[in-house]
Amino acid sequence: MPLDKYRAKRNFEVSPEPRGKAPKPKGKGKPLFFCVQKHLASHLHYDFRLEHDGVLLSWAVPKGPSLDPSVKRLAMHVEDHPLEYGTFEGIIPEGYGAGIVLLWDEGTWEPLVDDVSAAIKKGDLKLRLNGVKLKGSWALIRTGGSSSDGRSWLLLKHRDEWSGPLDIAVFAPLSVKSGGNFSDVISKEAPSLWQSNRKAKGAPADLLKVVERAVAHEQELKQGAAQSPRTGNAAEPDAKQSRRSGNAAEPDAKKSRRSGNAAKADATKASAKARSTPRTPAASGRAARSPAARNRSR
Ligand code: MN
Repeated sequence: MPLDKYRAKRNFEVSPEPRGKAPKPKGKGKPLFFCVQKHLASHLHYDFRLEHDGVLLSWAVPKGPSLDPSVKRLAMHVEDHPLEYGTFEGIIPEGYGAGIVLLWDEGTWEPLVDDVSAAIKKGDLKLRLNGVKLKGSWALIRTGGSSSDGRSWLLLKHRDEWSGPLDIAVFAPLSVKSGGNFSDVISKEAPSLWQSNRKAKGAPADLLKVVERAVAHEQELKQGAAQSPRTGNAAEPDAKQSRRSGNAAEPDAKKSRRSGNAAKADATKASAKARSTPRTPAASGRAARSPAARNRSR
């Protein structure tokens, strides 16, 4: 069964992740879903997922995708996920993947090969993405190393009008679903977190670690913005707006190459704006306190 591995790893009594229905492959020519979920588990990574035959083919990308064609990002092939997983955002309180999941990008994808299953088997999948942050031509290439047991792939951007010298994971760190960061998910999900916390004894220590990691990650983003506007915590593209206009909200890579400083100017403006908006510290402050407070009240 296609989702056996996925289900075997999870306890759906505890995790809010979807169990997934029986996979229903779409007819030829129908748009295929893709997403990238930013997942703060024991380590931060980005789960890159492509709909194929009714499930989501999945790779865990530790550093996230890069728009720079000279940068190849390690992508570990992991178990297929149910299609319903693709829009999931929330807290996994304990067990496999315990942490926070943000929907970092979503959209549609097109294979640039005739047979996706054959391309996966061969270890060379060329594709086109049409997401909010990621667009244009990409490739997933399996690496040869004998120690990699066939799970190591590389995710890379081809040179086109959507490529450019921009670390998009750092430049656009927020959710395309909620517009928030990890601390916002914690604040929003607090009631359900509280319930699963009570139900699952021993979970608070794990959850506390998750919250600490979220706060540390956002601190890092902020420090990055203060030190280097070019790669720092710049304004998030307005996901809704870019979906409406069908245009990426990222600075046009071509334009910024032509005009040199366009992206930098945008990022500087944006990070100045981010600094003047003290939303995140309050949110992470709340998040950092709440599980401890819960512990005390137990
Ligand atoms: Mn993951």
